[in-house]
Amino acid sequence: MKDIRDIRADFPILSRTVYGKPLVYLDNGATTQKPGVVIETLERLYREENSNIHRGVHHLSERMTSLYEETRHKVQHFIGAARPQEIVFTAGTTAAINLVAYSFGERFVGEGDEIIITAMEHHANIVPWQMLCERKGARLRVLPVDGRGELRIELLDTLFSERTRLMAVTQVSNVLGTVNPMREIIAKAHAAGVPVLVDGAQGVQHGVTDVRQLDCDFYVFSGHKIYAPTGIGVLYAKEKWLEAMPPWQGGGDMIRRVTFEKTTYQDPPLKFEAGTMNYAGAIALGAALDYLSSLGMEEIRERENELTQYATRRLEEIPGLRIYGNATEKISVISFLVGEIHPSDMGMILDKLGIAVRTGHHCAEPLIDHYSIPGTVRASMAFYNTQEEIDILVEGVKKAVEMLG
Ligand code: PMP
Repeated sequence: MKDIRDIRADFPILSRTVYGKPLVYLDNGATTQKPGVVIETLERLYREENSNIHRGVHHLSERMTSLYEETRHKVQHFIGAARPQEIVFTAGTTAAINLVAYSFGERFVGEGDEIIITAMEHHANIVPWQMLCERKGARLRVLPVDGRGELRIELLDTLFSERTRLMAVTQVSNVLGTVNPMREIIAKAHAAGVPVLVDGAQGVQHGVTDVRQLDCDFYVFSGHKIYAPTGIGVLYAKEKWLEAMPPWQGGGDMIRRVTFEKTTYQDPPLKFEAGTMNYAGAIALGAALDYLSSLGMEEIRERENELTQYATRRLEEIPGLRIYGNATEKISVISFLVGEIHPSDMGMILDKLGIAVRTGHHCAEPLIDHYSIPGTVRASMAFYNTQEEIDILVEGVKKAVEMLG
């Protein structure tokens, strides 16, 4: 892999200071920073090439359309999908899950049916299913987590019933860092005849993704968490589902023919892309995926694993520090508390030292309630972070303990 100094130089923001101190950015779970190639792609598109896609016969529109459709192929290859038609662009993970909850829900979920989620889901993978259940008179069932922050897979078979229509589960917990055994979960669900949606928001950026090997039915992620701009995301779905699901939003581009009497729709994926899409964001997502592929997703995972292990070891040296989430397989996210110190007090002191961490419930309130705590301090790492930055975090936490303890 490229030298770490060169990698950091690819990300302009990493050289800035905060309160006169070098920025130590450990909030990558919330959003990642952007490499120059992504920023430059956006700038070049708007400076030199901007035009709406799928609409014009003129040069710029055709060029933008082909860049957009090429990006669909890039995403397809990046996640190992069989066909580009299985890739739907969305505004992000939340939008993708809502699309499935509405569209799949409309067609396949009825009164008395059940949806399974887990106790470690982000609100984005809870609330859309709750809303679906309310609309349809269906029921949400929840797979619990154990004390180490691992899913209680042994209970999964007891949750499946004849009424189970879908299971939605995160690949990696944004609070605990737990990497869930997706293949095992999906195999069990399929054996029970249940399709699976994988929330890849915290997974896709940390290693090689292969949706065909996973055999998941749906896979969703956000561009902004994988070094691309905000406002763009991806829904992968097996073709059979996209064919069977009705459109969610109606408007321009998703139609074949409109009359007042009847409208016919495009084939997937365009059937699910109503209105002007974030084509600039999509093309910049393509630039981010190219950049990551040039570094190597396996190398990224290895580096992030090393960093996670180093950070865990160093943080555990601090007396009274408790780490939430001790799963055997864990990546990039470390949630902790020290003594009785409130996470937001800790976060504010770290901020004054130039250290960006997240504090609070991390949009996973049921999981935080499970631990009966007010929230955690969360350090989330990317491949551009360094051991020196972890050392600065550890010194910062020690200082905060001195001040607040
Ligand atoms: N799922 C998980 C596991 C997440 O971490 C997040 C973002 N924190 C989301 C879903 C929602 O992503 P977005 O806000 O980009 O739609």
